[in-house]
This record gives sequence, structure tokens and C-alpha cells, in this order.
Amino acid sequence: MAASVSVSVVPAAEGLRAVYTSGKTRTYEWRVSQLNAMLKIATRHEKDFVVALNSDLGKHEHEAFIHEISAVTSACRMALKELHRWMKPEKVKTSMTTFPSSGELVPEPFGVVLVISTWNYPILLSLEPVIAAISAANAVVLKPSEVAPAASEAMAKLLGQYMDASAVKVIEGGVQETTALLEQKWDKIFYTGNNKVGRIVLASAAVHLTPVILELGGKCPVIVDSDINLTVAVKRLISGKWGCNSGQTCVSPDYVITTKPFASKLVDAISSELERFYGKDPVNATDLSRIINSRHFERLTKLLDEDKLFGKIVIGGQRDKTNLKIAPTVILDAPLDSLIMTEEIFGPLLPIITVNDIRDGIDLITSKEKPLAAYIFTNDKKLKEDFVQRVSAGGIAVNEVTIHLTDPALPFGGVGESGMGTYHGKYSFEAFSHKKPVLYRGFTGEISARYPPYTTRKLKF
Ligand code: NAD
Repeated sequence: MAASVSVSVVPAAEGLRAVYTSGKTRTYEWRVSQLNAMLKIATRHEKDFVVALNSDLGKHEHEAFIHEISAVTSACRMALKELHRWMKPEKVKTSMTTFPSSGELVPEPFGVVLVISTWNYPILLSLEPVIAAISAANAVVLKPSEVAPAASEAMAKLLGQYMDASAVKVIEGGVQETTALLEQKWDKIFYTGNNKVGRIVLASAAVHLTPVILELGGKCPVIVDSDINLTVAVKRLISGKWGCNSGQTCVSPDYVITTKPFASKLVDAISSELERFYGKDPVNATDLSRIINSRHFERLTKLLDEDKLFGKIVIGGQRDKTNLKIAPTVILDAPLDSLIMTEEIFGPLLPIITVNDIRDGIDLITSKEKPLAAYIFTNDKKLKEDFVQRVSAGGIAVNEVTIHLTDPALPFGGVGESGMGTYHGKYSFEAFSHKKPVLYRGFTGEISARYPPYTTRKLKF
């Protein structure tokens, strides 16, 4: 372990283990008290979070509230309302092999869990897994992202002030601290971030056979067919791309596929709707978040400035290095081997790829890694069915983008390169619970064939 790592990191898991083992976290009362404490944090300190999100991302207060703070309060309220039901063992029907018997699945916490979070929705993506972990009675360490330092500091301060510090801890820090945490033995690790670090987390977890949930990213495609309500589709597309943190969202539309004849109509519609939303000078629009830091700003401008995109920018392209802002930018027919079409964009740039037949779009999507989300705008029933059947993705939305993850009835998570495991709603409780199968029998129902000696008569049984 690196010598400069703060000592508080070192015994994090072990410090909580004694508290977890004491059974303190397992009572209904403890869970409710912690959920109420979290609710107080999110309601009483809404303003602190808004300020932190504005400082880290230039996020507008409205976006901060609807995309992060209100989602945290909803998750708390849902857990408080449903906890009794979630905690109840689930009865299962047993079979002839165990007759007479009964069976149930008893949810039990994993134990001491680690949540490693990211910077784009730094409050929501940190606190929602913590809410899930405490609902399911785990002791938890949260390691927020150092890339959003104001949000990290606010959460460390407020969770320290309101939550039971013996079982819920925030450890701030960067790669060094995360590395030190990953060396410890955890009972579950919940990681949100890029898939390169996802592999590091998985490899570290393997040492202790720790189960892992990986919430990763990828290139989320959108097919736009021509037989649609274009105005509604474009409004939804813009809101899911630029209205969600300037495209710095894991389920943000990454690229659009449409037919060659429809492309110019689509570009015109995007252009006029963008102007209605963000005005003629979008780089200075306060409704548009900025890029998180200069490293990501450089990464995005490198994608945009690649020679292969010369002459292909049809909307936007303006940038302001000082304020880390990039205008909503659309690129028509970026080569499929360009950086922008091979790397996750995670920013306000949107390539549109044209195909001869809209069905070719499905082939293009399935030729790539499995995305976290995939979208289609169409009224064609057969195309819809083909899309849902053939495209493998963490989740799919038809005639919508991004908002599927706001519905607690739909589990949220990736598949393949976009991650493993799901959460949200009841799935959050399940993500942090082991469903322990229990078989109950009495002392009747003995079958002699089960026991030696294995006589010929028994073999015929
Ligand atoms: P990040 O840089 O904040 O990293 C995430 C976490 O990993 C941080 O806590 C950081 O300290 C830690 N970390 C970074 N490098 C590490 C290393 N070498 N070893 C150990 N720990 C390390 O965030 P990011 O990776 O830039 O996040 C963006 C990515 O996350 C995108 O790919 C995006 O699609 C994905 N994402 C996914 C979801 C989801 O819910 N599936 C949500 C948001 C973002």
C-alpha cells in the first residue's frame, strides 16, 4: 500500500465489520433511521448539493434537482414505504424431491460493502447505491469521485453529520485511496465508472471472491426512422443528449442512425429545436452544463478535430476553453473508423450515420459492443420488434431516450461491455441482498432408498 494514503482508508472494511457482525444494521429500526437521515440530508441540504453541482459541472439548478436530488429523495421514500415488504422472506413451492417440506428465500445482507462512484451525477450515483446498501442492512463505505470534488466534500460532510458513522462512512480520495480500499476484503463492491477501471475492480474483487456490480458505459445508439412525429422525437433526443449534463451521461444518445434521404430533415429539425432551447449562442447558455474538467475538454476536442471529420460538422462546433463549454455539435456521416465512432463520446457531440435501409442500422449496432442503452424512434411495428429482439443492450427505450432509468419498475444496469448487475426500485434492495434459500422439514417422509445399503430392490425404486 502506498505510504501517503490516509490512515482512515486502511482499516475501513475491518472497522465496520465488527459493527456489522454485532447485528446492529440488521434491525428494521436501524435501516429506517438511516433512510430518514438520508432523506433529511437530501431535503434540508438541497441547496448545498445544488451549489456543489454547479461548482463541479456548471449544472443548472433545475437539472440538479430533477436529475439528482429528487431522485435521491424518491429512492429514500420508496425504500421507507416498501422496506417491510422487501425484508419479508419469499415463500417458494417445494417439489416432490423434498416432500413434505416448505421453502422460502430469506434476504440477508452481504455484510460490509464498498460503493465506488463517478463524477457525472456525483450525488445520485453515490447516494442511491448507499440507500440500497443500508435498506438491505449492510455496513457501507462510499468512495465518491475525486473528479467532482465539491459534491464529494458535501457528501462526506453531510453523511458524517447525519448518518450512523459506525456503519456508514465516506472516504474521499482518488486512485491511490481507491486502490488501497480495493486491497481490502469486502462482501460486495458496487462500482460506477468506465470499463477500464471496471476491469481493475473486478480483478481486485477476484482475490477475495467478492461479488461485484459494475455500472459501466458504452456507445448508446439511436435509430431514427422517417415515419415518426419528428418534432416530439427531436425534442426528446435533445433533452436526453444535451439536457442531461451536456451529454456527460452514461445513457446519453452517443450516435444516431437514419436513412440518407431523411438525414437533412433530421439535421434541420435538430438545429431549429436546439436554437429554441439554447438560443443563438449556446456556448454561453446557462441551461447547458459545462465539461467537467480540462482533461475531458481536451479529450472531446480531440474527437472533434480529427482530420477525418473535416467538413462534416453540420451544427455547432464552437467551444470556449476558459469556461469549458462546447456547443451542441452534430457531425454528419463521421467515418465508422473515426475516434468519435469508436470511443464513448460522453459529451455534447452527436454523430449521425446514414444508411440505405433503416434495418441496416440494427446490423451496425449489433456489430459493436453491447451498449448500456439502445433507442429507436419509429411507428413501424415490425422494425420495433426486430430492434427489441436483435439488439442486446442494458436497456431499451422505444420512442424515448434516457428516461427509462427513472422508472423503478425497470431494473437498470449493463450487459457485456456495459456492465453487470442491476439496481433501482426493488432491484436495488436485491442488489445488496443474498436471497438465502431455506428448506424446512419435519421428521416424517422418510424414504429408505435414500440410505445404504443400496440393495437391488432399492436400485429398482
Ligand atoms: P471517474 O474518473 O470518477 O472514476 C470512477 C471511480 O473510479 C472514481 O471513484 C475513481 O476514484 C476510481 N478510479 C479511477 N481510476 C482508478 C484506478 N486506476 N484504480 C482504481 N480506481 C480508480 O469516472 P469515469 O470513469 O470517468 O466515469 C465515466 C464513465 O462512467 C463513462 O464510461 C460512463 O458511461 C460511466 N458511467 C456509468 C454509469 C452507469 O450507471 N452505468 C453512470 C455514470 C457513468
